[in-house]
Amino acid sequence: MHSNEILALGLGIEPPWRLVDQRLDTAASPNVLHLTVAADRGAAFACPTCGRSCKAHDFQEFTWRHLNFFQHHCHITARVPRVHCPEHGVHRATVPWAREGSRFTLLFEQAAMMLVREMPVLAAARLMEITDKRLWRIVTHYVDQAVAALDLSDLKAFGLDETAAKRGHTYVTVFIDLDRPDKPVVFVTPGRGKDTVARFRDHLAEHGGEPGRVVEVVSDMSGAFIASVREVVPEASVTVDWFHVVQTFTKALDAVRRAEAKSTRLPKALRWAVLKNADGPLTDKQADALAELEACGHATGEAWRIKEKLRWVRKAETAQAARWRLTHFLRHARDIIADKDLLKPMQGALATLDKHAERILQRWTSGHSTARLEGLNGLFQAARARERGYRNATTFTAMIYLIGAPIRVFVST
Ligand SMILES: [Zn+2]
Repeated sequence: MHSNEILALGLGIEPPWRLVDQRLDTAASPNVLHLTVAADRGAAFACPTCGRSCKAHDFQEFTWRHLNFFQHHCHITARVPRVHCPEHGVHRATVPWAREGSRFTLLFEQAAMMLVREMPVLAAARLMEITDKRLWRIVTHYVDQAVAALDLSDLKAFGLDETAAKRGHTYVTVFIDLDRPDKPVVFVTPGRGKDTVARFRDHLAEHGGEPGRVVEVVSDMSGAFIASVREVVPEASVTVDWFHVVQTFTKALDAVRRAEAKSTRLPKALRWAVLKNADGPLTDKQADALAELEACGHATGEAWRIKEKLRWVRKAETAQAARWRLTHFLRHARDIIADKDLLKPMQGALATLDKHAERILQRWTSGHSTARLEGLNGLFQAARARERGYRNATTFTAMIYLIGAPIRVFVST
């Protein structure tokens, strides 16, 4: 085999294209292997629309970055024709080693996509020796392409949650298929609230889904979400997931603690003690802090008690028992709060709970695990870690899809 042929094999070039020149530029650092590819004189090229064999109209030179040749960067240059198709007019021909519009070869992109599946994009960009911005362009292209092929024709139940793409700035709302045990993400869209649900309806329709077939939706207690879910999938029952109930009380508890800390010296390790999920063991310090809280009759201690009592509601085995416990819990908690100013935030949480009681109780009769939304937090964290250093709603969205969606990201070479 001639050395040109070996190189051509590694490039994925095929007739009428041939490798016509190779030159190692040792003045550049790192060294660059320049490969020149050309088509046979008078060759015909396929119209990118219909595939008909057409004559070249004119040529323009392009250069692509290819996989490194050992330690050297490798660039491919070729004059690419525009073809003149009698039916479709004049269009740039496609080349077999790169997709339209990309300045990288398919093999380079394939390697890049393999890396970003395993490591943060910034780390992959360093390995590939390109900027992370350019790597993100590759990632979003292939993720978008894979998402476009998503089939949602059997979606019957979905859950949704919102999360910040950038701390406190832009949000994205994530929709999951509740019947998929892993890779449940089926839609990610910028923003939060009402409009996102309408966009999901359109997305569903574009992917073979049918809003009328949706029987259940699991969401948090946001009024905007619930109202628009009612509008978009009126037949579906709406269940509020337990995770968001606990989250509401945790926030209220933290508000009580912060307010109380202004006027009272609270035990030091308290912040962590009160926020820690008591399902796990408390440290000695945290246990001491709690004991001290209770002994001194702090409002934070009472708020903590209320929040902990929620667990008792959740443990009910039947819907009927849960209803009874919920009623009892509300009454008992309101007695504790009475008109204590410091406990006002807990009052707000109770009002929310009361308002959504029916949707919360639905979880006892729901055919779907409502614990799924809780698992999304881990996914969001993983996505944030992968996109560190270059973060916006678009990159965050692409990374959530890449990690959490049932898509096949596929670079055809
Ligand atoms: Zn054509």
